[in-house]
This record gives sequence, C-alpha cells and structure tokens, in this order.
Amino acid sequence: MARECAVRAALLSAARPNSSDTIEGRKRIEDEETREGHVCFVGGVDNDEPDRRIQVPMREQPADERIKNFREVALGYNAEEAIQEAKRCLQCRKPQCVKGCPVHIDIPEFIRYVAQGDFKQAAFVINKNSALPAVCGRVCPQETQCEGECVSGRKFDTIGIGKLERFVGDWARENNIEFDVPQEKNGHKVAVVGSGPAGLTCAKELLVKGYDVTVFEALHELGGKTITIDQLLDDEGFAAVFIGSGAGLPNFMHIAGENLCGVVSANEFLTRNNLLFAYKEGYVTPNYVGKRVAIVGGGNVAMDAARTAVRLGAEVTVVYRRSEEELPARQEEVHHAKEEGIVFNMLCNPVEIVGDEKGWVRAMRCVRMQLGEPDISGRRRPVPIPDSDFLLAVDMVILAVGTSPNPIISSNTPGLTTDSWGSLVADEETGQTTREGVFAAGDAVSGSATVIMAMGGAKKAAAAIDEYVRGKS
Ligand SMILES: Cc1cc2nc3c(=O)[nH]c(=O)nc-3n(C[C@H](O)[C@H](O)[C@H](O)COP(=O)(O)OP(=O)(O)OC[C@H]3O[C@@H](n4cnc5c(N)ncnc54)[C@H](O)[C@@H]3O)c2cc1C
Ligand code: SF4
Repeated sequence: MARECAVRAALLSAARPNSSDTIEGRKRIEDEETREGHVCFVGGVDNDEPDRRIQVPMREQPADERIKNFREVALGYNAEEAIQEAKRCLQCRKPQCVKGCPVHIDIPEFIRYVAQGDFKQAAFVINKNSALPAVCGRVCPQETQCEGECVSGRKFDTIGIGKLERFVGDWARENNIEFDVPQEKNGHKVAVVGSGPAGLTCAKELLVKGYDVTVFEALHELGGKTITIDQLLDDEGFAAVFIGSGAGLPNFMHIAGENLCGVVSANEFLTRNNLLFAYKEGYVTPNYVGKRVAIVGGGNVAMDAARTAVRLGAEVTVVYRRSEEELPARQEEVHHAKEEGIVFNMLCNPVEIVGDEKGWVRAMRCVRMQLGEPDISGRRRPVPIPDSDFLLAVDMVILAVGTSPNPIISSNTPGLTTDSWGSLVADEETGQTTREGVFAAGDAVSGSATVIMAMGGAKKAAAAIDEYVRGKS
C-alpha cells in the first residue's frame, strides 16, 4: 500500500512542482492520501520507512528466462524506486561522486531533483554535461567511477547513481523532452567523423555553441559519403574536423590454428548477431555457433560474446590469463554471466587451437598461468607455469583480445601521426592531432576503452575546436 502511495506522490509532486519537498506540500499530499484511505510516506513520515543504508535493488529478468531471449536483463527503476533511491543521497557538500565522473555531471543536483519527483529538471541537469544518460547509466563501470567515490559507500551501500541516471535518461526519452539548441548559427562548419559516443558528444557540444555540424558515419544511415579529411578542409569549407572513428579492428593472438573454421573475432560474431540480426527468424545472416564455445579475454566485449553465445544455445567457457581480480569487465557483467551458467577458467592462456581433419576447431591447448610482478598497466603480469598445458575440448573459439583503430583514416591523411598501436596521436587536454585543424578523441586515440572516457575526451576536443575556430576567424 505504501508503495502505491509513493508513486502517486511522485505524480502529484511532478504536477505541483516541489510539493513533496516542503513540509506543507507533504502534509497536503498525505492528507489527501489519508482521506482516500491509503497509507502514505512521501515525506518519510511513514512507519514503513525504507532502510536508507541499503540500495534500492533493480528488478531484472531471472537468469533461466533471460538466457532464452535478447531482451534487456535489468529492467530499470520505476518512479517510486527512483525517488526512494534518490532520497538516500547524503547531498554531500563536497560530493566525491562528481570527481569520479569523467564528464563531471552535477550528480547531487540531478539526484536532488529525482528525490523531488522533478525528473525533467533532473534531465536538464544531466544534459549540461552528458547527452547520453540512458547509455551511460547502463554501460559505465560506475563501481570504479562515481559510485566508487560515493561517500555513502564508506558505511552503507553506495547510491545507485548509474541506475538513477538510466532512469532519468529513459524518462526524458519516453516523455520527448527536448533540450535547448541555439537557433542562431555562428557561420562555421565542423565535420565529425564517426557517430559513436565521442562523435555524438563532440557534435552536441559544438551544436549548442552555434556550429553547423555534419556527422560522417561509415555504417548505416548517417553521412554515407566517401571523402578524405583533406577534401573536407580544403574543398568542402569545414573549419575543423573531429575524428571519433573508434577502434573497430579486432586483434588476434597469432597462435597456431587461428585460421581454422570456427575461430572468429568477437566483433564479427557480435556484429552478425546484433547488427545483422542473425538470431532473428527471417534474417538470413549466417552466424556459426558451436556447441562448446571458448571465449578468450576478460573485458566487456568478452562478456557480451559469452552471454550472446549462451543465448544461442552454447555451453560457454571464458578463458582469461589473469585472475578474477584483474578481470577488466564490469562487475555486473561478470555477475550476470556467472548466473547464466558461464564457466570462468582463470589464469589460463591459449597457446594453440587444434583442428580436426576437416579443418574445424576440436580443442584449444592452454597453459596454466601464475601472477608475477606488476607490469606497466599496474596489474600483475601473468607468467606460464612450466609443463602445465592441457586440452580444452571446444568446437568454437571467439577471440575478444582487444581492438585497434582502423588505419584507413591515418593512412589517407598526410600529417596525422599514429603510435605503435595504430592509435592517433592527440593531445590529452585538447584532442589536437599532429595535423592542424584536425582533432580526435575516444577509442581512435586511446585504443579500446569505455563510452564515458570517449565522451570525456570529446568534450575537451569540442572546447578546443571552438577556441581554434574562433582564433582563426
Ligand atoms: C561488444 C562491446 C561491448 C562494450 N561494452 C562496453 C561497456 O559495457 N561499457 C563501456 O563503457 N564501454 C563498452 N565498450 C567500449 C565502448 O563501446 C567504446 O569504448 C566506445 O564506443 C568508444 O567510442 P568512440 O566514439 O570512440 O568509438 P565507437 O563507438 O567505436 O564509434 C566509432 C564510429 O565511427 C565509425 N567509423 C569508423 N571509421 C569511420 C570512417 N572512416 N568514416 C566514418 N565513420 C567511421 C564507426 O562505424 C563507429 O560508428 C564495448 C565495446 C564493444 C565492442
Ligand atoms: S558522494 Fe554519494 S552521497 Fe554524496 S552527493 Fe554524491 S551520490 Fe550523494
């Protein structure tokens, strides 16, 4: 009963701004609710007060159900749950959570609005710093960023910042909230290459500053024109170019047997399934799926590949050369993968893929590893244990061992320098590449990283582009 009332309170509060935020307002709502025969806890005056030490859990599809479909696992907060969780925030005077956010969203401010049931204002607060809350709320590694710093986490559960961000992003989309874009153009054109989080963030930042922005995208509908960076700058009148072309080129291990039938990169496997809809009836995209599948790697891409293979009916083992502690994937992904029956074979490294007489995978030879001294990444280096090799019987191997930037742009643009990994060399603070007028950020610069890191870099690059163009005119 109390739960129903809180939803109603949120609706009432949205209809009468801030009404649940004042004693008078709370009293009015509570009086109304009591008259209608309900028990109410809009202002925490209810005996059924939730335990503020514990994060409001997010409902999700049970593991045995979700492994039969491709729908979202976590179902998101409803209005009542969001308000309840938002009310747990301590509204710290020195909010550590903001320091942990690579795009510096005013986290306590947006949460304060959620607690008041004013989801629209919450969306506006987030939009000042991020155009992709529905994405970031779902995929960011919050446990090592904003939530990792959250003061509440020192004694109790951290505030579910990501869950609240997702709620606000979804709410804004479902309610067609439009954010301000200045009508007056400043007369300058900027080209953005790539429509991932880096490209879209840079485009949005420049758009609100009055630039005429064109996004060129190699896939699907955006852009669609084959043109060089030189042509954009010299012939098409663009004052600057931003490159956010990502790191879409899969790495391989260069071990024997990698060219056998049944060995694929996670990129190819996931692209066929998710972008070309191989899993749907009526789509004819071929996508081989083995019965016993090994996924090599321990990042988010490996988790996506593993959980996709499970949904396509395979028995899946993740093989990773370090220990569980060093797994780079988000904790939630690992937790969900385990719930779905995926086996984690840690401290294990493939050295050969073994084929049958017809050239198909039949096993993977692996060696056991132990952890040595930390390497340059700060993580302990995996070292093979002598004579520890063994055969893992599998009929498919999916490699998720990282990606590199595609060299197509760097090799066609004079003056653009890349490092030994093929990443564009660009200033960390400005995104300025080695070519004048050309800026870059995201995976194209850092190698495969995260959505929020790409957005953070793109924001800095957009500010630098603005300064560069204004300086020239
Ligand atoms: C399977 C998978 C799972 C992931 N899971 C997570 C996760 O859970 N959390 C997280 O934070 N990150 C995750 N990541 C990483 C995250 O997606 C990337 O770090 C992020 O998307 C990088 O953003 P970006 O804009 O730099 O590049 P991208 O998102 O890769 O976008 C680049 C865009 O540029 C386009 N492009 C490339 N070349 C050209 C060209 N020559 N001309 C025009 N367009 C071009 C591409 O088609 C693409 O649309 C995952 C990545 C993968 C592949
Ligand atoms: S650190 Fe945690 S408790 Fe403090 S303002 Fe940020 S989200 Fe709220």
